[in-house]
Amino acid sequence: MAKKESGSSYSFFDQEMAKQSMAKLEMGNHLRQAEERGELELVYQPQVDCLRGEIVGAEALLRWNHTTKGYVSPAEFIPLAEELGLIVAIGEWVLRGACRQMKAWHSVMSEPLTIAVNISVKQLNDDRFVEKLVHILEETGLEAKYLEIEITENVAMQEAQIGTLLKLRSLGVSISVDDFGTHYSSLSYLKRFPVTKIKLDQSFVRGVQTDIKDRAMIKAIISVAKAFQLQVIAEGVETEEQTGFLVSNGCSHVQGFYFFRPMKAEQFTEVTQEELCVKLAFLRSSS
Ligand code: C2E
Ligand code: MG
Ligand code: MG
Ligand code: MG
Repeated sequence: MAKKESGSSYSFFDQEMAKQSMAKLEMGNHLRQAEERGELELVYQPQVDCLRGEIVGAEALLRWNHTTKGYVSPAEFIPLAEELGLIVAIGEWVLRGACRQMKAWHSVMSEPLTIAVNISVKQLNDDRFVEKLVHILEETGLEAKYLEIEITENVAMQEAQIGTLLKLRSLGVSISVDDFGTHYSSLSYLKRFPVTKIKLDQSFVRGVQTDIKDRAMIKAIISVAKAFQLQVIAEGVETEEQTGFLVSNGCSHVQGFYFFRPMKAEQFTEVTQEELCVKLAFLRSSS
């Protein structure tokens, strides 16, 4: 509580707090029904292999089109969904939709892509998570080797989740650490958890042209990935320079606005090889 300077400032503060918690309550109630109302949607961001010049996968990202507020950012509603315990149901909806979509794409694509799905630690804590995931794979017909779950380092991530992750690995599901390098425990995390891929956080990529420390972080993380025999992908790649730096330092898998923004499923199949070649042309001319 803020220091009580005068009666009036205190009540102003109180009113603000009350207003905020009312808004949150309202938002939460609305979120509870978002799925039924058809307000949730998945968009897909292509993941690119710069050396092969191909799209190799997609990350599914959740969107909420609120009836009155319009588009609400996942940065806002995912924490709320976690707090209210809605993330387990919403996460299941996401997983099912993403697997079903990728399975549908497999029937029209020559090279099968992988689908990456963000999973909250609250979902991993659900005793029935593995069971539900197995059911979704069966129901959608997607092979486990094409599914990758993205988890973030989290204090709530305890030894209990190691068992869950090992079960997923034995099914053939890949496990990627999202936003890698932004938390304190990054290295010990790699030792403790059975992960297969590191996602280099966009905050480091952003500084490629301006910050010597960000460049050092990127190089260090890439060599950590190599040492642990993990795959590495960079996220938030917005420029040619960033791409060039990443590729020349051994990170050829990237995801970001420079290549493609997250898009609706219908658009995804319209992305052409030519578009990608244009984006990557500079790599050939500089080597
Ligand atoms: P994330 O998993 O790290 O996803 C990457 C975020 O960076 C996405 O934001 C994406 O749209 C954005 N991004 C991609 N390329 C670029 C770029 O070049 N520049 C910039 N500035 N941003 C880029 P988005 O979709 O707003 O999602 C934010 C976060 O919300 C995600 O971060 C993830 O932690 C969470 N999230 C999204 N969908 C889900 C979901 O289905 N389940 C769970 N549990 N979390 C989700
Ligand atoms: Mg992610
Ligand atoms: Mg991330
Ligand atoms: Mg994130």
